[in-house]
Amino acid sequence: MNEKELQKIKQKALEDKIPIIMDDTLEVVQKLLQEQKPNKILEIGTAVGYSAICFSKYLSENGKIDTIERDVERVKEAKENIKRAEAENKINIYEGDAVELLPNFNEKYDVVFIDAAKGKYPFFLKEAMRMLNENGLIIADNVLYKGYVMSDYNKHKQRTAVRNLREYISEITENPNLETKILEVGDGLSISRKIKR
Ligand code: SAH
Ligand code: MG
Repeated sequence: MNEKELQKIKQKALEDKIPIIMDDTLEVVQKLLQEQKPNKILEIGTAVGYSAICFSKYLSENGKIDTIERDVERVKEAKENIKRAEAENKINIYEGDAVELLPNFNEKYDVVFIDAAKGKYPFFLKEAMRMLNENGLIIADNVLYKGYVMSDYNKHKQRTAVRNLREYISEITENPNLETKILEVGDGLSISRKIKR
């Protein structure tokens, strides 16, 4: 898909208020993918397929992305976008709740991109660790959640999300099998590499 077509998908998503990956975050992730040359990527949170289409350019030959989305309308639009991008052979969409679907996944992945319900990040982490290849990356978007995560702000209606994001950050920073960086790019991006001990 050419850049102009991709920009159209992005613009429509922004108009529809769909929280697609921010430009500066995308830039960081694309650099990581360029180095990693992943064969298999797992994405949790497809939305309309924008990030998956962007990532698909960095797969190794015959590489694949499995991506999960629970919103029926978004799945429909993602399928159309992926078809327009001629990426149907690279991107598989799984329709449903990732919390229910992930325990049945048994593939190995080189990169897991977490970009869905913030209250479920600790659960997604557990599932990602189970399926991540050694030297693989777990990248999570929105981990600083507009700064709420790093402030003492906890009367917010999103406090469950904030509590779970804090738990997620503790786990990735304290797990001896992970090497983690947290970047203040976009809405906060964590990058954790699975290392051998
Ligand atoms: N990665 C996309 C944006 C994803 S937005 C991009 O950058 O282009 C987050 C998406 O996750 C939303 O579409 C939402 O419906 C979906 N989502 C949230 N919780 C989910 C869950 N538990 N299972 C599956 N999808 C979920
Ligand atoms: Mg996001």
